[in-house]
Amino acid sequence: MARVILRQVTKTFHGQTVVKGLNLLIPDGSFTVLVGPSGCGKSTTLRMIAGLESVTDGDILIGDQPVNHLPPGKRDVAMVFQNYALYPTMNVYDNIAFGLRNRGYSKNDCRTMVEEIADVVGLKPYLKRKPSELSGGQRQRVALARAMVKKPQVFLMDEPLSNLDAKLRNQMRVELTSLHKRLGTTFIYVTHDQVEGMTMGDQIVVMSEGAIMQVAPPMELYREPANLFVAQFIGSPAMNVVPADGRAEYLWGFRPEMAVLLPGSVSAVPAETAWSLDGIIMSREILGSDALYHVETTRGRVVVKAETERMAEIGEAVLVSVPLAHIHVFDRATGKRLGRLEGRTQNHSLAGGVV
Ligand code: ADP
Ligand code: MG
Repeated sequence: MARVILRQVTKTFHGQTVVKGLNLLIPDGSFTVLVGPSGCGKSTTLRMIAGLESVTDGDILIGDQPVNHLPPGKRDVAMVFQNYALYPTMNVYDNIAFGLRNRGYSKNDCRTMVEEIADVVGLKPYLKRKPSELSGGQRQRVALARAMVKKPQVFLMDEPLSNLDAKLRNQMRVELTSLHKRLGTTFIYVTHDQVEGMTMGDQIVVMSEGAIMQVAPPMELYREPANLFVAQFIGSPAMNVVPADGRAEYLWGFRPEMAVLLPGSVSAVPAETAWSLDGIIMSREILGSDALYHVETTRGRVVVKAETERMAEIGEAVLVSVPLAHIHVFDRATGKRLGRLEGRTQNHSLAGGVV
């Protein structure tokens, strides 16, 4: 187990800087997720930690050791990719043991280590099977076991679940989380899928265009996004962002589930506690217990989540009402979140008195 530190880590490919001076502390034993849109530099960052890619500038430390100049094999890390390849002619046991063979362990030691890991990932009954005799999820577990058996200080994973179908992916998320708890090893996990990041990580690093947008536990990202990028990347559906009342230099944001749909005939919502927008329902997505309503309002299109007990219809005139305490204020120019609204709508003020 070890913590990982990135200090001003930069990567340039052919004059183009794709990772821009990252500073990051990945605590020992944490499950840290790097999340962001495709092309934002997640894999490059992970590959630099693994030693598969050189660092153009800055330092990477694993434990307390600078590793910039160490080859992958000397960094005590293990990596699992989206496209893992198992040896098709070898059985599960040999696939897992393969990485141990050239490390000088005795046959008995190898057996103990392989069986221990096979037990952890639930593969013990399948040790004699060939990869072709396994399900996709079981094969993925062989790839994980093969990496884990080396007992690395840090475990690196790059979209390892992307090739699995939705049901198996959900199952593997749960398995990976419990695996992390049992092993206590530092996990660094890359995904473009914010739901995957939010469900598994204890520390989430949101990246955009080679830079870090925010580092926080999942619920903090959700409740206190540092900027518009995070607000609109985290959460499904994303935060609604509309022009602010009165002040053109601000934008207001609110989560679809924090807003309420009222019939259009309701005209007076107490302005001391809520802010309201007139709108018309343009479309509706029924999710089961909830539905998402896409509403064209006087401030643009917003999405509102509501229970399906009483459904509103497409074309219906509605009032979207948001409690003031759930409205986030953003600086339009910088995208920075300034705080939440407090007080009356006629006299908007921010927590901390920014306005
Ligand atoms: P992500 O994993 O977030 O999708 P990557 O780290 O793979 O993003 O890529 C970040 C950027 O770096 C992309 O613009 C990509 O095209 C570029 N890139 C990645 N690897 C190389 C490479 N070996 N040579 C040149 N450009 C690369
Ligand atoms: Mg990638």
